[in-house]
Amino acid sequence: MSAIESHLRENPYDIARDQLRRVAQRFDIEPGMVELLGAIKKSVEVAVPVRMDDGSVRVFRGYRVQHNVTRGPSKGGIRFHPDVVLDEVKALAMWMTWKCSLMGIPFGGAKGGVACDPKRLSHGELERLTRRYTTEIIDQIGPDIDIPAPDVGTDGQTMAWLYDTYSMNKGHSVLGIVTGKPLSLGGSLGRTEATSRGALFSLQQLMSRRGETLAGKRVVVQGFGNVGSILAKFLAAEGALVVGLSDSGGGIAAESGIDVIAALAHKAATGSLAGLAGTVPVSNERLLELDCDILAPCALEQVISEENAPRIRATVICEGANGPVTPTADAILEARDILVIPDVLANAGGVVVSYFEWVQGLQEYFWTEEEVNRRLNEITARAFAATWELKEREGCSLRIAAYGLAVQRVAEASALRGLYP
Ligand code: NAD
Repeated sequence: MSAIESHLRENPYDIARDQLRRVAQRFDIEPGMVELLGAIKKSVEVAVPVRMDDGSVRVFRGYRVQHNVTRGPSKGGIRFHPDVVLDEVKALAMWMTWKCSLMGIPFGGAKGGVACDPKRLSHGELERLTRRYTTEIIDQIGPDIDIPAPDVGTDGQTMAWLYDTYSMNKGHSVLGIVTGKPLSLGGSLGRTEATSRGALFSLQQLMSRRGETLAGKRVVVQGFGNVGSILAKFLAAEGALVVGLSDSGGGIAAESGIDVIAALAHKAATGSLAGLAGTVPVSNERLLELDCDILAPCALEQVISEENAPRIRATVICEGANGPVTPTADAILEARDILVIPDVLANAGGVVVSYFEWVQGLQEYFWTEEEVNRRLNEITARAFAATWELKEREGCSLRIAAYGLAVQRVAEASALRGLYP
């Protein structure tokens, strides 16, 4: 990986491959299979030239990576962020493979991204960038091949442009090409909240095993975008006390609890959390170290490293983001008896409801929100129970159990399919 001056302290693809090796060792997966599972099936890098509003042309770098399609077409979000690099996209694609496998949905893993700062682009520039990027990767994606979705810096509008660009090129509307679409374009009820709802369901599974509830738990949420803001709202609705929140502009804290609905309104009105009445400012670094029961990192990777892991005071970490804890930090947290609900379990609600959206789109028959949420709860409960049971049996962390289950399932599918030709 090229020198990175970004939120990435370590090469995420190295981390993902190292996790795979450790899991393979623990569950006796043979070396040839590990090599197969560690390989990226396909990776494309494209130039995305965009006419800017001032008439100039800028060329952005775009990526689409498909890690593994043994269990079905690949699935994964598209990230618009200045720090996007190929090795990050590869790691995120590999984690998607494990996530889909763990949740028992028939997809492989993919991810895409464009290195850009969407906050500095106008609506028109973003639309042109999205349409050109879609066109550049159009032969790589398809409802039976690889199905994108939103991730950091992209949303329903981005997915609408992608859907339209793909459909215009094919000559007919292709509902199954992308998930996370707005409702008026064949999106699924419950998709916007799905990642956060899945995280909530995972936390509830944990609480019920401990004979506890979320009511009264002190919670800190890092990141106030799609995942973080809705999770904070859900947790507050369960009676938890949200004592810290943050976005890229910094954090806010309140010992007696933050009014999350007021925080949402304040962010919508001012563009940031800073200055919310009844709160004090706190740096993003300090936020993670606040005294709380549950810490939910819902922003970017590697925010908990060996540097701050010894100072984390939460007893439970719920990984709303992908890869927020580095492996070294993971070992420190485990030694300190801090339980981590790993990303592939904690934030899988998004891809599960994306799967529901894809199914509904293919059938052109749409479900009620209750049905979506009920099925999501069932799938989350099943995956949590299987992971918990393996953790208890093996005496390992929830992460090793989750990755172990997921990787073994892909290995089994791979062995059954055999090697072509
Ligand atoms: P988003 O763009 O909606 O929100 C990201 C948030 O993180 C923003 O509030 C931003 O201000 C904040 N942020 C960025 N850098 C920060 C920093 N250093 N400190 C504090 N906050 C910071 O993105 P999202 O869709 O909510 O995704 C967040 C994470 O969840 C990512 O890791 C993503 O891969 C993961 N995820 C998202 C989904 C989904 O359905 N959207 C599904 C699974 C996993």
